[in-house]
Amino acid sequence: MPQPSVATMDKIVSLCKRRGFIFPASEIYGGIANTYDYGHYGVLLKNNVVAEWWRAMIQERDDIVALDSAIIQHPRTWEASGHLAGFTDPLVDCRTCKQRFRADHLDQVPCGQKPSKHPGEDAVCDLTEAREFNLMFETTIGPVKEAGATVYLRPETAQGIFLDFKQVLQFARRKPPFGIAQVGKSFRNEITPGNFIFRTLEFEQMEMEYFVPPDQAQHWYEHWLHERFEWYVRLGIERERLRLRAHDPDELSHYSSGTSDVEYLFPIGWSELEGIANRGNFDLTQHAKHSGERLEFNDPQSGERYVPHVIEPAAGVGRSVLAFLCDAYDEDEIGGEQRTVLRLHPALAPVKVAVLPLLRKDGQPELAREVYERLRRSMKAEYDEGGAIGRRYRRQDEIGTPFAVTIDHQSLDDRTVTVRDRDTLQQERVAIDELPARLLERLDPAGA
Ligand code: ATP
Repeated sequence: MPQPSVATMDKIVSLCKRRGFIFPASEIYGGIANTYDYGHYGVLLKNNVVAEWWRAMIQERDDIVALDSAIIQHPRTWEASGHLAGFTDPLVDCRTCKQRFRADHLDQVPCGQKPSKHPGEDAVCDLTEAREFNLMFETTIGPVKEAGATVYLRPETAQGIFLDFKQVLQFARRKPPFGIAQVGKSFRNEITPGNFIFRTLEFEQMEMEYFVPPDQAQHWYEHWLHERFEWYVRLGIERERLRLRAHDPDELSHYSSGTSDVEYLFPIGWSELEGIANRGNFDLTQHAKHSGERLEFNDPQSGERYVPHVIEPAAGVGRSVLAFLCDAYDEDEIGGEQRTVLRLHPALAPVKVAVLPLLRKDGQPELAREVYERLRRSMKAEYDEGGAIGRRYRRQDEIGTPFAVTIDHQSLDDRTVTVRDRDTLQQERVAIDELPARLLERLDPAGA
């Protein structure tokens, strides 16, 4: 039986706050529901996750192009996509405690009056019938609310891709199978308590729509299940803590002929990390119907004309960040002292190397700065001269820095430094001149 990593959600939340990765938004006003800000290391980590996704989509393939579509689209988009009518959660209100709950999550949340029970379990609970609430945030274009047009913040990035299908087909000179990839913010009025950044009101998605000839849909669906699963493994997630779960027929959207989730064994249990769906031709057909545009592929060679089917891998940036953090989190002991370490894959680590003078005198800081300036030309480096060396190592371990370079008295004599490995704790003496190449090689053995 696979076990979650040693991380608990409390430990992750506290490390993220302590080191400034991620913390509650609007905290000086008491915070705002399910909303978080990313600090320095959080931004670097998040950017690295997104960069690795782009690498897998664009750099390592030649059948996918990039797109960045608008957050606010024409409101008819959501009529056509079905979101206006059907993107809803069933909610109940409690007339006693005045709180609102997801009708299908009552067993996961505490009662507003008696936290040891669930809503509806106590005699004082007075729940309304479940009503469907739309998850889209609504706003208005124009200065006067009454006269303006009602628009919506996108609840997924995918629809922008379908709206631009025809344009991309023209300028990218592609024919199916080909994909359009996009990373951007989406918004959902989620009322369920979020388990940190697992479920937030605004979140970034990494979505790719892969357009294929209808008779190849099943083949490409299986291809993307495999590709997306292995992406997480390649970036260091334990294979045993990942699984693919196919949706039951009653979970499937009416247009989908197959959907599977990549699930990760979070400290809260197995939960969705990414969904991979075989969407058929539903989206293009709907937008064609509502817009009057022909959204199909016309093969000039064969004369064949068809509406491509779509395979969609849809991942969340925040959820991936959380999974990478949980999986990398470890605790061990060095010389009788407790250590917290993030064993992040080097590609994801916010900082690749820390440069540390052993002493703040005898020319060590000057040489260390020289080394630092050389290294930072090719990798994210950090210079730190404050405090005992052990404390400085601990700080870098906690943010997942793979290497620490220490400058000591010998460095001034022979221009060598020690390189400490975060995971093995082994120290190796390396000539300063060879340092950048040696580190680059160890950070990315395949790329060097
Ligand atoms: P869930 O069932 O957890 O609400 P979903 O099936 O509605 O998710 P999709 O619409 O398939 O999610 O979105 C694709 C991905 O976007 C999800 O796998 C997840 O990683 C991310 N995602 C969706 N909603 C949120 C949210 N509220 N906060 C953070 N990430 C989200």
